[in-house]
Amino acid sequence: SDEQIVCTGCGVKIQTEEPEHLGYAPLSSLEKEVVVCQRCFRLKHYNEVQDVSLTDDDFLKILNGIGQKDALIVKIVDIFDFNGSWLPGIQRFAGKNPVILIGNKADLVPKSVKQNKLIDWMKKESKDLGLIPKDVFLVSASKGKNIRDAAAAIDEYRNGKDVYVVGCTNVGKSTFINRIIKEVTGENDIITTSHFPGTTLDIIEVPLDDGKFLIDTPGIINHHQMAHYVDKRDLKIITPKKEIKPKIYQLNEGQTLFFGGLARFDYVSGGRRSFTCYLSNELNIHRTKLENAEELYQKHVGEMLTPPRQEQLEEFPELVRHEFTIKEPKTDVVFSGLGWMTVNDAGVKVAAYVPKGVQVMLRKSLI
Ligand code: GDP
Repeated sequence: SDEQIVCTGCGVKIQTEEPEHLGYAPLSSLEKEVVVCQRCFRLKHYNEVQDVSLTDDDFLKILNGIGQKDALIVKIVDIFDFNGSWLPGIQRFAGKNPVILIGNKADLVPKSVKQNKLIDWMKKESKDLGLIPKDVFLVSASKGKNIRDAAAAIDEYRNGKDVYVVGCTNVGKSTFINRIIKEVTGENDIITTSHFPGTTLDIIEVPLDDGKFLIDTPGIINHHQMAHYVDKRDLKIITPKKEIKPKIYQLNEGQTLFFGGLARFDYVSGGRRSFTCYLSNELNIHRTKLENAEELYQKHVGEMLTPPRQEQLEEFPELVRHEFTIKEPKTDVVFSGLGWMTVNDAGVKVAAYVPKGVQVMLRKSLI
């Protein structure tokens, strides 16, 4: 029949086509008397939340809903892709609600980066972006680092209220919440439901000990992230899994580095200098002469310069050039979602190329 089936756990409309989207349930499960979406199923049986993604419109509805509640907001960003994983607009929707900012994936940052310096940098950066968090934490959800401290702070700042956890896809929100669940809940049947008035969006609530809830919201897809231009199978190449090992390059002006076929760095002028690359250890870096770079790219993208893959080339965006004159020594040229290049000396001219739509920016070096 055409009758719309809804999840008994959270009320979301069931669909059987897209496993990573809201409301997914395998076709076979529709024969059961009680149908639950995969997200509720996992929470119920494994005490685990699963990440699902939303369209921008739906996400706005959720943000609007949060703005009308009296709650603590926990916002998670990926420390390795801080700006790319920022959720613009959250400060507006938070209203008077306090926000705790969590920088996840601290395990990727080279040991030489001082944690306090990184936290100070996050505070400043977030202020520049219009958000003044109550507190900032640097954690590794997958390694369990600093999770206790963050959980304690969440419990303190929520002050008897609900907690909404927000973040764009891939920041590690599910991994973080699953860690927290292990810290705060037992083995009870923890699915409950929540409805924002006027929407069909449903979110998952994890009960806390005082009758309040930790609420997992679906992640929004941030279209400016490099990850969306990379084949799923290649994500492991650009997403570092381990502490990043810096690579130092002595470059003469007129030299170019390719980061796979995803990005390019030209050293335009300034004499012989050193540059430090902070990129996934798996990403292949290819050095060439600037004057040959364009031809080399056209000839070898998808093959020697990969990712992208050959079969992706048709839809892969062109690389767009951004030129910078470096004014301060120790400046990072950030390739959103890929990593960064530290330019050690001032007064040099460089150009960074990224797929159209992906962001490039300068910042004072983190290291
Ligand atoms: P979500 O989409 O925000 O819910 O993100 P997930 O929890 O599914 O995590 C996205 C990816 O980041 C997965 O490949 C995780 O293994 C990885 N990840 C999550 N937390 C960490 C972390 O603390 N460090 C590292 N290196 N990777 C992490």
